[in-house]
Amino acid sequence: MASRVPLAGVNARTASLRCHHGPHPGNDRTVSAVTSVVVWTAGGLLIGLLSPPLLRLGMRRGVDAGVLLITWANLVSLTVIAIALPAVSGLIHGCWLALGVEMPWWVGVLMGLLSGAAVVIAIIGGGWQIAGVTRHRRRVHARHTELAWLLTGTAPQAGRVLWLPTSEPHAYSLTGSPPLVVMSRGLRDCLDQAAVRAIRSHEDAHLQRRHHWFIAVAQALSAGIAWLPLTRQSPALVRMLIELDADAHAARIHGHRPLRRAIQTLRYAPAPAVSLGIASGSAQLRLERLSATSFSGTSHGSRSVVPGTALLAATVIVSVALALGAGLASCAP
Ligand SMILES: [Zn+2]
Repeated sequence: MASRVPLAGVNARTASLRCHHGPHPGNDRTVSAVTSVVVWTAGGLLIGLLSPPLLRLGMRRGVDAGVLLITWANLVSLTVIAIALPAVSGLIHGCWLALGVEMPWWVGVLMGLLSGAAVVIAIIGGGWQIAGVTRHRRRVHARHTELAWLLTGTAPQAGRVLWLPTSEPHAYSLTGSPPLVVMSRGLRDCLDQAAVRAIRSHEDAHLQRRHHWFIAVAQALSAGIAWLPLTRQSPALVRMLIELDADAHAARIHGHRPLRRAIQTLRYAPAPAVSLGIASGSAQLRLERLSATSFSGTSHGSRSVVPGTALLAATVIVSVALALGAGLASCAP
């Protein structure tokens, strides 16, 4: 990237021609490439500016939380690609230099440099955040493993609840090996069995549907790209969406009434920062959604996790491939 800068500074027209080898380095093609990169980048930034209120509107209007999570993942992917595209296309094709035909040469160079700087800051900030959260999560998980040994004489096991002998109500899940659902005796003292079972299903949903992974990605994006509303607000957006998703999962199995009782009773219950507690997210919105949505409750009423995860991965991969492919192909020399 650095070698392109002085090159462009020598002579804008020369630099432009060097970007487009071949018999017809004409302006049409050059302008087309420039337009494409600018449109992709501007479009991505616009998505990053406008999508948070639209996602919130979807939550309030009762759009399925799983659908909104997939939408969020795709919007974030498109935005990140749009930010990186000027730098990537500059490195691969030198397309940024082609801006010299229509604009001052330094505009294209500046665009590529800003893009490159944003990518480097995102990688450092996001990586630092993920490393810190991973260390903290491992410490908290290790403490719960020690607790399990002390309380039960055995290692914690996947699929079994770790019951804490405290009078305060606690309910949260922790990812790790094995993934843990933690509850306290105080929970059983203040809630009926149906509500406790609904909480268990809610926490199981967090683990089965990879919600901890969503939060980790959202926090990394927020730390790395804090200047864009979509990424900056992603932790709050995603936390709300995964709570709604886990609520829907539990309500489809147990009905909405036990879960409503649990949320109302435990809305201020504390939980470790790296866990997903039953009290996470806005209790008011969650209660409203549970009241407004009809859940066809069957014992296997929850949607399968595998198709949901596969659908998410497939849509993100396809949108990333399309955006990156279209952006780069459009400025191929
Ligand atoms: Zn939760």
